[in-house]
Amino acid sequence: MEGKYANIIVDISHEKVDRPFQYRIPEKLLGKIEAGSCVRVPFGAGNKQIKGYVIEITDRAEYDTGKLKEILDLEEGAVSAKTNAIRLAWWMKTTYGSTMINALKTVLPVKKETKRLEKKTIRRLVTSKEAVLLKEQAEKKKQSAKCRLLCELITEEEIPFPFVSGKLHISAATLKSMEKQGVIEICKESYYRNPVKIKAAQTEKKKLSDAQQEIVDTVLSDYESGRTGTYLIHGITGSGKTEVYMEMIERIVEKKKAAIMLIPEIALTYQTLMRFYKRFGDRVSVMNSTLSNGEKFDQFERAEKGDIDVIIGPRSALFTPFKEIGLILIDEEHESSYKSENMPKYHARETAVEIARMHGASVVLGSATPSMEAYYRAKKGEYRLFTLKERLTGGELPSVYTVDLREELKSGNRSIFSVKLKELLQKRLECGQQTMLFLNRRGYAGFISCRSCGHVMKCPHCDVSLSEHKGGRLVCHYCGYEQPAVNKCPSCGSKYILGFRAGTEQVEEQIRKEFPRARVLRMDADTTRKKESYEEILSAFAGGEADILVGTQMIVKGHDFPNVTLVGILAADLSLAANDYRAGERTFQLLTQAAGRAGRGNMAGEVVIQTYQPEHYSIVHAAAQNFEAFYEAEKVYREMLWYPPAAHMMAVQITAKEAERGEKLSEKLAGILREKEKGKQPKGPEKVMVIGPAKAGIGRINDIFRYVFYVKAKRYEDLIQIKDELEARLFEMQLKQEMVQFDFDPLHTF
Ligand code: ADP
Ligand code: ZN
Ligand code: ZN
Repeated sequence: MEGKYANIIVDISHEKVDRPFQYRIPEKLLGKIEAGSCVRVPFGAGNKQIKGYVIEITDRAEYDTGKLKEILDLEEGAVSAKTNAIRLAWWMKTTYGSTMINALKTVLPVKKETKRLEKKTIRRLVTSKEAVLLKEQAEKKKQSAKCRLLCELITEEEIPFPFVSGKLHISAATLKSMEKQGVIEICKESYYRNPVKIKAAQTEKKKLSDAQQEIVDTVLSDYESGRTGTYLIHGITGSGKTEVYMEMIERIVEKKKAAIMLIPEIALTYQTLMRFYKRFGDRVSVMNSTLSNGEKFDQFERAEKGDIDVIIGPRSALFTPFKEIGLILIDEEHESSYKSENMPKYHARETAVEIARMHGASVVLGSATPSMEAYYRAKKGEYRLFTLKERLTGGELPSVYTVDLREELKSGNRSIFSVKLKELLQKRLECGQQTMLFLNRRGYAGFISCRSCGHVMKCPHCDVSLSEHKGGRLVCHYCGYEQPAVNKCPSCGSKYILGFRAGTEQVEEQIRKEFPRARVLRMDADTTRKKESYEEILSAFAGGEADILVGTQMIVKGHDFPNVTLVGILAADLSLAANDYRAGERTFQLLTQAAGRAGRGNMAGEVVIQTYQPEHYSIVHAAAQNFEAFYEAEKVYREMLWYPPAAHMMAVQITAKEAERGEKLSEKLAGILREKEKGKQPKGPEKVMVIGPAKAGIGRINDIFRYVFYVKAKRYEDLIQIKDELEARLFEMQLKQEMVQFDFDPLHTF
């Protein structure tokens, strides 16, 4: 590690993490100190010797170098969880370009200063009758405290601790002795730790199929012989991936190693959690966004102490400070929620691989529709690929019909339901089976397409759709290309070229008109403001309280609905038209997942995909449920235009209080890079492409102006180098007003 100065945190009790101090590295320690090192430094006016953690090595002195104190010594030896966390933060800082402080705040659990409330309770372990007898004995022995408590416990099985100590004035000693006798139990468990009181793990192990067993055996025998790595399980929903995860976790835990299981929050259903609790009892814990910081910290503490072996949660569960991790599993690895939208904008998949490297652990990814990234790496041999092809619960794959909406329009059908969908829906209503209607609303704001021929207005340079802005101009969010709005389709001349503005509400209305007797439930961002209402709607539907569930992508995840035999996708193109390069991938994933909802039970399912572009490869291959074919087609597109994973892309996001300054800065930075490109070979591997700058998709938020430009390169290291250069230039510029952030391999436009 280069650099003469070290930024050091002297107290890592987390609240103080945001106050590093700079020290000079003495000659003898140059090159020996790195992020995470524990050192001794003089501190304060009296120069008291204390311990500190190095969080950063730098060449930039932040103060007058003459006044900087020098590090005294390096504390060798023990690698603590903190050292690991700091190393990881350093890796995130360099890989994703954030400040070290932000990286540290991400990887270190935040300790709340407020005291956390412990939900202790006293639980009776004997029967009510036995309690009566015990109370009589206590009375005779004049043990009045014991008597008071037993009196309460005759009727109540569980009493909150504050009541016991406060109201009943029972001492800790009394409680201890009663606990020893097996009369009571003092429980510190609160809901989130173990929502269901399961004493010991009630294993309900399935005998794995040969295909499942092979995956488990391969990963484990690799692990045992020290060949850790990354594995990808491509398996349709219901093919037994979760069963494979659980078996692997069990075998890793037997080796006294911990396992981290990432599941997107939306898929973290009660049913899934129960499977893990039943298998692992109270050695497993759950993390989710409803936990307070204090509760999260609590979870982390339990992991650090070794009270649990397994944690399940969304991406932040990655930072659980287990001493020794053996396995990290990421289910539904293609989900975009695995990428952080805040600095550092890390991806859980890459971060998991790095954590695994630090711990000598393996990573297992699973998905029914793997991300382009994961599959690309699997194909290149970086990840080992496994495929699970059969649904273990039986049930045929659904039949899929693609309906061309252009033809519907031609034949005079202006309804949002095609003739085919109407017919199948009617049948479901008649025989009491359920239907899900799916309307994809994400990322279509402002896209313009032709209702007659399906033509989508696209950027001639980036091959992504243009967005309509106020005043009617069409704009590309990558390169800034602009053109006036059109009133005639450039492809077929139709005047039906316009933005698509149907929402779930309109769909619901339309159903009420066309099928007045159907019972409808709607689920979208409006109806699910509260967390419970999401579960409420789903369980109402599962309980048969409605015939039709209309919703956005929320309805394609999680719960199983055995009575759903029809899935309708109202306008598959909406996600295709999204203004970013992942539109095709997202569409394929959504269609595949949505289709997978039909016919989970014993009845065969049917799926109707309505689209203006039935010939688009995402739709063709989703209808045929052919992932491999989709992948090959998508890969060609990514390779041609240098999009990830064929290349890498960095978004440089500039925000400023004054539009002019933001614009100027973005032009200046992009200009610096363009200048550097001039001397390079046009086809060399070190070549980078600079695209933009452009006004961001949302040009202004809270009166802060936003600009963006993109840099594409074949090698990730080149982007990091460019980021470092830009950071150095920005440091020299001493900007007060403007801010610059980096997003590597972004999932969304800025
Ligand atoms: P996925 O995670 O791929 O969706 P699951 O592991 O949830 O698949 O399995 C789907 C269903 O099949 C579950 O009900 C599960 O209990 C059952 N299952 C999985 N593996 C087996 C097996 N080897 N034998 C019998 N049933 C199994
Ligand atoms: Zn047209
Ligand atoms: Zn463009």
